[in-house]
Amino acid sequence: MRKKLVVGNWKMNGSLARNAALLDGLATRGAVEGVDVVVCPPFPYLQQASEVCRGSSLGVGGQNLSVFKEGAYTGEVSASMLLDVGCAWVIVGHSERRSLFGETDDLVAAKVVAALDAGLSPILCVGETLAQRDAGQAEAVVCEQLRCVLQAVGVDRFVDVVVAYEPVWAIGTGRTATPEQAQAMHREVRTYLERSGVAGGKVRILYGGSVTASGAPQLFSAPDIDGALVGGASLVAESFLSICAAAAAH
Ligand code: PEP
Repeated sequence: MRKKLVVGNWKMNGSLARNAALLDGLATRGAVEGVDVVVCPPFPYLQQASEVCRGSSLGVGGQNLSVFKEGAYTGEVSASMLLDVGCAWVIVGHSERRSLFGETDDLVAAKVVAALDAGLSPILCVGETLAQRDAGQAEAVVCEQLRCVLQAVGVDRFVDVVVAYEPVWAIGTGRTATPEQAQAMHREVRTYLERSGVAGGKVRILYGGSVTASGAPQLFSAPDIDGALVGGASLVAESFLSICAAAAAH
């Protein structure tokens, strides 16, 4: 039985004051039974989030990490630094990192290895563009993204990776994949992992892309959708908690 997981990706949003209100709204509502809930603020606010979340059931994660351990890498943040400020999780290979900052499949794979080596749980984002979907390449693109990571990580350790399927055309666009489209890709991902020798039944596969409180229940009723990676809706305590509650109900 895979425990549901809901992750809030705040992207480059927030301030000390706005975060305090949001975190307070999340941390004081108590635990969401049967669901792991994680927030991923920008780097400068991780410490703030960790302090507020300490003693609550909320986990904290980074949005990115360096492949390097330490040293002369200006602007980089290492896995051990994330651990040091209370993170247990880290998002890796978000489509915005891939498209805006040139992260390749190989770099993403190296980051997943760096996270696992340090003891962080990586949330590996995969997903196709609209052009790739329209060309009938969605499954091939996603499987290739997974293959690169699998090759670097190995089948045994891949069970510690969370996969987030995020069709690029659904991120921040208000256009969600239908539950059928999402379920079909999640099944494809699980089957691919199993065919590759991974205990795919143990891997949590999240859906991400314009998830809202109203659309979440239908998504979570699909058998291979184990939770969500939430962007915009994670910036409002009420909607994020409703999504978490929807996960708990399934
Ligand atoms: C994301 O940033 O991973 C995401 C899915 O964003 P949104 O929910 O806003 O589409």
